[in-house]
Amino acid sequence: MPALVAEMRAGFRSGLTRPLAWRREQLAGIRRMLVDAEETLEAALAADLGKSPVESQVAEIGFLISEIDHTVANLARWAKPRRVSVPLALQPAAARVRPEPLGTVLVIAPWNYPLMLSLSPAIGAIAAGNAVVIKPSELAPAVSHALATLLPLYLDRRAIAVVEGAVPETTELLAERFDHIFYTGNGRVGRIVAAAAAKHLTPVTLELGGKSPAYVDATVDLPAAAKRIAWAKFLNCGQTCVAPDYVLGDRATLDRLAPLLAAAVHDLYGSQPARNPDYGRIVTEAHLDRLLGYLGDGTIVTGGDADRADRFLAPTVLAGVSRDAAIMSEEIFGPILPLVAVEDLSDAIAFVAERDKPLSLYVFSEDAAVRRRWEAETSSGALAFNAPVLHLTVPELPFGGVGESGTGSYHGERSFLTFSHEKAILSKPLSPDTLGPTIMPPFTERKEGIVRRLLGKLR
Ligand code: NAD
Repeated sequence: MPALVAEMRAGFRSGLTRPLAWRREQLAGIRRMLVDAEETLEAALAADLGKSPVESQVAEIGFLISEIDHTVANLARWAKPRRVSVPLALQPAAARVRPEPLGTVLVIAPWNYPLMLSLSPAIGAIAAGNAVVIKPSELAPAVSHALATLLPLYLDRRAIAVVEGAVPETTELLAERFDHIFYTGNGRVGRIVAAAAAKHLTPVTLELGGKSPAYVDATVDLPAAAKRIAWAKFLNCGQTCVAPDYVLGDRATLDRLAPLLAAAVHDLYGSQPARNPDYGRIVTEAHLDRLLGYLGDGTIVTGGDADRADRFLAPTVLAGVSRDAAIMSEEIFGPILPLVAVEDLSDAIAFVAERDKPLSLYVFSEDAAVRRRWEAETSSGALAFNAPVLHLTVPELPFGGVGESGTGSYHGERSFLTFSHEKAILSKPLSPDTLGPTIMPPFTERKEGIVRRLLGKLR
């Protein structure tokens, strides 16, 4: 590990990653790999998570291709130094901000979108001119292996490397000095990453998870809302960081919503989701066992059936879940959707505001005053009205959490900035000497007068 990281650092120091042409070539290389190896990658995603080819295209391969195209189209503009104005007191002078690469970046990815979450941060890191070490998740071994064998064929090995492995390998990597660490996963490991980074004063981006709520009121078209919630929840079998974790609403609204959610599940996955190739699988048996423990926390409206050997758990809606049920104590990260009754809007807002700040918050309401209250009175990585999950496809929206759901953000230009240092550059001619007669001692009354005038503090 030390040798590999030293090699990447040497690659960066050699200057090879800095030219925009090199960055574009690497991005084009990733794009070519995604196109050439489409079938291999789809098969790997199917093996690890039972992902359907269409879902793999939408949420992994296609997403990455759009991200690359957006990055390549805007890279020259993002990378250009930007002039800023200089205060009168300092003139004549010129100031600009120059984005420069940080150095060698470590990307640690999770298993749930194993391709997208390994490569999307890497795209930003490469675009910003960094050397990159990518550590895919060992819990998605087929994708991890595909990345480790394919990427070196398309990318410059002097500055981009893939390291496969689990906790021991990641621990070894974390002992090395990086210039930025980008971690996606859970908060427990996020703390380990932050502590390891602190030893070297390495900045981190932590893309974490948590419970993203959905609030529904009676002003919306409930069947349409039910369909969007069911889609967002059961996509990738509920193993999506921005999936609606649970639904809040008043009792009457939830009573109407419950059968509509069941109908939506039927529309999406038919009467036998176990036989439907569009429906995924739980990543491991251990995760499935954890999820099965939640099924008693409410009344099953639909789903509940499981097949351990097949890592299958049906899309499940649980009604009548109490606020202090076990399922409400941690991120579910699986296909179980609890419906939790609140008294009214204020109760719902308080429920969310009292808990950890979520990665996403979804509000289904046509009432502008209700939307305004959610916007003003709660904090979350993102807030979306009537449109769960989709905000992450808008490249101009920063994607990231706040508080327990993460720190820092990326996507589009925000990725470029995350992996750049914005260097401040000031240039002032030695002549005329405007400093001696003003801010340098010996101070005279005249100088004091000038300083006060320049600072706008006339007596
Ligand atoms: P995971 O188990 O694959 O772990 C993520 C990475 O951490 C892996 O590469 C793994 O090797 C490494 N790791 C695990 N234990 C470690 C340790 N002790 N020391 C060092 N490295 C270690 O994935 P996960 O954490 O189960 O992923 C699911 C979580 O990620 C959920 O909480 C989800 O919400 C969150 N998530 C967040 C986002 C986001 O963009 N904010 C996206 C996807 C997932």
